[in-house]
Amino acid sequence: MEKEILKLGNPKLYEMSSPVEKTELSQLAPLIQDLHDTLIAFRNQYHAGRAIAAPQIGIQKRILYMYINQPTVFINPVLSFIGDEEMEVMDDCMSFPNLLVKVRRHKKIRILYRDMEWNEQEMLLEGDLSELLQHEYDHLDGILATMRAIDKYSFYMK
Ligand SMILES: [Zn+2]
Repeated sequence: MEKEILKLGNPKLYEMSSPVEKTELSQLAPLIQDLHDTLIAFRNQYHAGRAIAAPQIGIQKRILYMYINQPTVFINPVLSFIGDEEMEVMDDCMSFPNLLVKVRRHKKIRILYRDMEWNEQEMLLEGDLSELLQHEYDHLDGILATMRAIDKYSFYMK
């Protein structure tokens, strides 16, 4: 079911999300469906949106959902940077669809996570997807792109 996306300023977006327990796995399917439906509805309206974090629909759990050609569910992701290379990017967010924020992100990352069968998975990402997952991962720690703005001139309305 499509859910309301919490918008910039909503205090729930600044909360730390808690890890998923293995015992919760069997009850996750409806939440993943909600994330999917909400992402697709946003995409139909704004022609953007590749991934969504559970806290953006008010569920403070460490779950990310990405849909690019096929769905990927990241449960309890752990992100680490590979190397020191950084890049400046214009970041947007489903929680502030008309705003762009210039931020600095790492070029390459490693992400470890559990899948829907509770198997450990690993992804090495760079560029575009690296940026995307760093953005989504921040949501789990209550961090929005606005908090990572390079300086006070880094905000642009679309
Ligand atoms: Zn976001």
